[in-house]
Amino acid sequence: MSTDPAASEPTIFQKILDGDVPADIVYEDEQCIAFHDVNPQAPTHILVIPRKPIPTVDDISPDDEALVGHLFRVASKVAEREGLDNGYRTVINCGDDGQQTVYHLHVHVLGGRSLQWPPG
Ligand code: 5GP
Repeated sequence: MSTDPAASEPTIFQKILDGDVPADIVYEDEQCIAFHDVNPQAPTHILVIPRKPIPTVDDISPDDEALVGHLFRVASKVAEREGLDNGYRTVINCGDDGQQTVYHLHVHVLGGRSLQWPPG
């Protein structure tokens, strides 16, 4: 069992899922929700998160494969609804070097402008 008190603290995304923190939710189903990022990095910046609290890409189990595929199908659906007809980017940051700040798996959907590559 973890001795790190922070490890037992619900993430901000868990609080959104639990209804304890408000979010601008644009899509939800039995497996995931999608909502606007509070600090958008593009004109459209939406996060798609599973209801299941998977911390990082490294924690995806074989049982999660269909769920992770579903997240990307929802990302595409959300992008279409948001009118990102000229393309968009999906991003999953992983760990410290990946600049992950919330340890609940999430797919960033960024669009509405021509994005730069490579990212910093
Ligand atoms: P990460 O850095 O882990 O890949 O992405 C976490 C994202 O969550 C960031 O883009 C950040 O702006 C967003 N975020 C953090 N706290 C909140 C919040 O309370 N509400 C919403 N809607 N987004 C949040």
